[in-house]
Amino acid sequence: MPPSTHVHSTPAPRRSPSRRAAAPWLLTIALVAGSAAAQQSSPIDVVLFIGDGVDDHQLTIARDYLAGSGGSFSFDRLPHRAQARVRTVLEDDPSLPEYVADSASSGTALATGRLTSRARIATSAGDDTDIPTILEIAHRAGRRTGLVTTASVTDATPACFAAHVSLRFCEGPDDMRGARGGTLAGCLADLRSAGGAGSIAEQLVASGADLLLGGGAAPFGQRAEDGERVLDKAIAAGYRLVVDAEGLARAPREGKLLGLFGPSTLPVEWIGEGGARALPLTRDESGELVAPEPFSCVDNPRLGTRPTLEAMTVAALEHLESSAGQGFFLMVESASIDKQAHVANPCGEIGETRALDRAVQAALAYQERHPRTLILVTSDHGHAGQILPWPSLTVSFGFAGSSAQHPPGKVARLRTPEGGVLTVGYGTNVGALEEHTGTTVPVLASGPGAERVAGLIDQTEVFAVVRDALGLDPVSGAKGENE
Ligand code: MG
Ligand code: ZN
Repeated sequence: MPPSTHVHSTPAPRRSPSRRAAAPWLLTIALVAGSAAAQQSSPIDVVLFIGDGVDDHQLTIARDYLAGSGGSFSFDRLPHRAQARVRTVLEDDPSLPEYVADSASSGTALATGRLTSRARIATSAGDDTDIPTILEIAHRAGRRTGLVTTASVTDATPACFAAHVSLRFCEGPDDMRGARGGTLAGCLADLRSAGGAGSIAEQLVASGADLLLGGGAAPFGQRAEDGERVLDKAIAAGYRLVVDAEGLARAPREGKLLGLFGPSTLPVEWIGEGGARALPLTRDESGELVAPEPFSCVDNPRLGTRPTLEAMTVAALEHLESSAGQGFFLMVESASIDKQAHVANPCGEIGETRALDRAVQAALAYQERHPRTLILVTSDHGHAGQILPWPSLTVSFGFAGSSAQHPPGKVARLRTPEGGVLTVGYGTNVGALEEHTGTTVPVLASGPGAERVAGLIDQTEVFAVVRDALGLDPVSGAKGENE
């Protein structure tokens, strides 16, 4: 028998009391004030959240656990919602579709408005041409810009906004030269000695982004082809380095900021009790299936001194706001929803979705103070986790014996805070790592321009919504004003 301990205190999403408790007349005043603000010509701030690997299935797993089966996340309550097609093309023939994306091809679609092939960072399929990114276009037009992630800042998603390489693994100079094992032939053309712009880390430094927060001390510690460490190039370019939560909280709000809070991907917030995760099913001596023991999610004791995604988001908003007046573009990624789904760790996924929800709440609080803020919450591609019946429907309906019908892959049974048992299965690969899947992903939005987020759209439309909200022309930069 599984333990019957029920946790009754569902971790309610933090929310602004004033937002929830506003009397109708207060709401009216707020709406009037909002429309008055909308008529001003001050630039719009844009915060684009990307939950890596978040499709409706990963969202539902996290929502069921965190908010209960009748609950919702902060971003579920945003007024505009669409589903986005995740479209990728073949490298050898870009006229043909690839039905499953990686974070590089889908990140490129979000960041540039153009489709490309897998593993490419803001470069075109087939002919390897650099494609301008929304961050670069915004920077050229004088907007403040920032990238925040729980992965390395050189990982595919943030890289797509400020670098151009043909292979996502060209993160640092040594990575390009294959110094960490094997030659990355796909990086050779991007070497500086070959006339390229260098590694992703070098290109992030050269991008002019005002703020880069995440992991990535390892690629920044590598030496570029001229012998200088990328980190020293960053400091020479005016970046102030912070390495932990305390340093981030104390960092001045002016100037450029580089936060490297770990060598690569940052530790996740949650793990399964005792390190439990989804595993292949086993049988007892008599051949009967053994029902996996339900477990709960707990804090990761190895979180260390890294700031939370919420703390990074708050710091980024304060940092980009401090030079108020010109508007900003900020991308915030909860990266490890994907990475934990790859290793069939539902508690890792759920904890990082909680982190995304809290970060969005921080942006919503900012939006209350600054109504000309567009908030978008989306994802790059689908992933492996699914909620499955346990026992299987065929078994429970009596169509088969208890051992005859069961999930083929890895299974975890989670004891939810509301008292249920949630069965999560991963069955995309017989190998160690689970795979992305080819579903549409949600796009949620509020603020100026958000009404375009409706129905079925392409991921490339997210780029257009951000560009138009910022009032930018894709070629020359600023259109001059926002409408
Ligand atoms: Mg990512
Ligand atoms: Zn992935």
